[in-house]
Amino acid sequence: MRLQKIFVTIIFAFSLLVALNFGVQHVSGEQLPKIKTLIIDGENNHNWKATTPVLQKMLEESGRFTVDVITLNRDGKKYKVGAVTANLDSNLVGNEFSPVFDKFDLVISNFNNHKGGAWSEAVRTAFEKYVKDGHGFVVYHAADNAFREWKEYNKMIAFGGWGNRNESDGPYLYIDKDGKTIRDESKGSGGHHGSQWAFPITNQATEHPVMKGLPKVFMHSADELYERMRGPAENVTILATAYAKNTTKRHEPMLLAIEYGKGRVFHTTLGHDAQQLKSVAFIVTFLRGAEWAATGKVNIPVPDDMPNESEPVTRK
Ligand SMILES: [Zn+2]
Repeated sequence: MRLQKIFVTIIFAFSLLVALNFGVQHVSGEQLPKIKTLIIDGENNHNWKATTPVLQKMLEESGRFTVDVITLNRDGKKYKVGAVTANLDSNLVGNEFSPVFDKFDLVISNFNNHKGGAWSEAVRTAFEKYVKDGHGFVVYHAADNAFREWKEYNKMIAFGGWGNRNESDGPYLYIDKDGKTIRDESKGSGGHHGSQWAFPITNQATEHPVMKGLPKVFMHSADELYERMRGPAENVTILATAYAKNTTKRHEPMLLAIEYGKGRVFHTTLGHDAQQLKSVAFIVTFLRGAEWAATGKVNIPVPDDMPNESEPVTRK
């Protein structure tokens, strides 16, 4: 009898473990519907040819995303579709870039029109509607240098830099030494960075889905620290900051979450080149930010190699 009781207990414990394990697997990402993602690239003052494939691989290997890429070619002031990935309509190639956003849950921009071209009015309007209607957008590093003249784009990304931005584009946004969020209307250009260095990132929104479970402070490997960014800064949550100890002596926003209509925008200022995309601080925040932008939730777990405040961690 006693032995039987032990046996029943073991079976019960085993079943419980299986059930719990199933629960964990259920949120691992593999079983959730994939997030259909479009990366747009083709012009940037950064090495988009090197970074897009790394971003694509990172997203696909997480098990949570499928990724297509549209590469634009400038044709005077306009853009034509230069190339698309295999699953996309090859008839797009060679034609003027036209709205295609509705096929996707998420758009990621690795695009900076630094040579003065513009997306057509039809594309801009379609993209505004796409995000407003409740889709996701991720603005990655120098994509926040783009489109100074496109008002709604700047609302989506909350702030930007360079491209002659100044006080007419909106306030500087940062957190001061007392932890207070400052919208600083003073005059001056928008967007600066010093030499690259490995800096600590402070989690400023520990209850936000993107940041929940991440350390309070974690190291990022050597990268540009974007500072003095300015823009409309509406409906924005500062998710994370870095202290610009050598220059502004402000806690400069590194990661932002923005609400635009019913849509969500994740803004990462990090990731200058392919090397910086090996930083676990970048990888984890980028994947979780992308998932949040597309779905409003985050299931991608914080990995075991997440750095803390002591030193950055990079992957091969
Ligand atoms: Zn850069």
